[in-house]
Amino acid sequence: PAVIVAIDGPSGTGKSSTSKAVAAQLGLSYLDTGAQYRAITWWMVTNGIDTDDPHEIAAAAGKPEIVSGTDPAAPTITVDGTDVAGPIRTQEVTAKVSAVSAVPEVRTRITELQRTIAAGAPLGIVVEGRDIGTTVLPDADLKIFLTASAEARAARRSGELKGADVNVTREALIKRDAADSSRKTSPLAKAEDAVEVDTTDLTLEQVIECVVTLVEE
Ligand code: C5P
Repeated sequence: PAVIVAIDGPSGTGKSSTSKAVAAQLGLSYLDTGAQYRAITWWMVTNGIDTDDPHEIAAAAGKPEIVSGTDPAAPTITVDGTDVAGPIRTQEVTAKVSAVSAVPEVRTRITELQRTIAAGAPLGIVVEGRDIGTTVLPDADLKIFLTASAEARAARRSGELKGADVNVTREALIKRDAADSSRKTSPLAKAEDAVEVDTTDLTLEQVIECVVTLVEE
């Protein structure tokens, strides 16, 4: 039977790198749910939707068609056929994604998409996000919750953003995690039956090995 792995946690804990590597090692599909929320946010910004107005966001939530490619070696994301892998990583989208993903109509739509993709993965899938173990796939075979100190997360993120100020990055991360954790609909949270892995003092290779071992147990 297909194996479903849910990997949740705040930003900068190594979720994406870990999830992709685990999926590749085990021959599973891979889904980056953050990319889907970023894609719908990108569409809202591009189409002049006021992202401070939840009613406007809710009314537009059904419009863009978001398609995710689930090969862990080369994941893709398109909106209405346009490749948006680059544009969804801008500071503007990053600053607005929490507000857009807090709108229930957005979550319902994206959650449905995620469940369809997971159900269609032939051998199984590694799904990374914030609410996968609690809401999207509560029956997952394995649930991992990754954590790390704010310092470690900010350092990793500014390493990725080449040249970004660590303090500015840390403030932005803390703000986004606070917004993601405090929203009413399926906030960032650890499922009761999730295994928590603190990655602060671990290398990426150690985290990957730890998760692969847990899947194989
Ligand atoms: O993982 P990433 O940092 O790309 O996620 C971007 C944003 O998408 C998060 O800050 C959060 O607001 C939203 N998100 C979410 N639920 C998920 C995954 C991401 O609300 N399952």
